[in-house]
Amino acid sequence: MDPLEVIRRMYPWQGPPVARDPLFGLIGIVLSQHTNDKNAWAAEMNLEQLYGSAADLAKASVIDIASAIRQAGMQREKAAIIRELASRELRDGLVSRSLGMPWEKARDNLRAIRGVGAKTADVFCMTYLNAPVLPIDVHVRRVSQRLGLTKSRNYEEIQADLHKLVPGDKRKATHLSMIRFGREVCKARRPRCRECPLNSVCPWYSSVSKSQAGLP
Ligand code: SF4
Repeated sequence: MDPLEVIRRMYPWQGPPVARDPLFGLIGIVLSQHTNDKNAWAAEMNLEQLYGSAADLAKASVIDIASAIRQAGMQREKAAIIRELASRELRDGLVSRSLGMPWEKARDNLRAIRGVGAKTADVFCMTYLNAPVLPIDVHVRRVSQRLGLTKSRNYEEIQADLHKLVPGDKRKATHLSMIRFGREVCKARRPRCRECPLNSVCPWYSSVSKSQAGLP
């Protein structure tokens, strides 16, 4: 049984169209860090209402941007990143130019911005450049580790392990399906192992079951 194929079938990715401005798409990815979708979306809508362009954002102070995105949390850190991204977009088209370049170069350019991490750059490249990359978020990491698909705790190593298992054209679908699986079944607390279709092949469940049964 290929556990990732099972997860893809449980949560098939329908391929929603991406028509958003890439700068605001990237800002949305930054806002989604360490918060839930609802708060990130509310912060993003508020920000777009107040500052609808790169020029507006670049002129705004970090404090004002932070106030607009408060609902997403970590607002000072996120505001500094957002302002820098908008300034760079105005200055040299950092985000819009990346759409026409090899995704690895676009990823490197984004990661050179202070505060933009590997996951943010990977999600942007996966979404806007159709890059064959599987970003490792908290759900993907947890599901991979519990299923024994990786032994690492390091971002790049986990990604390399998953890339060996998932062909390029399935990485986006796999990433999105694993997030839903991690939210709904393989949850951080109280995973629904008894009803999980992968429990017969899951090392984490097997070790927990044995310890609960008092077996060595
Ligand atoms: S059996 Fe439990 S730990 Fe293993 S993948 Fe399923 S929900 Fe996650």
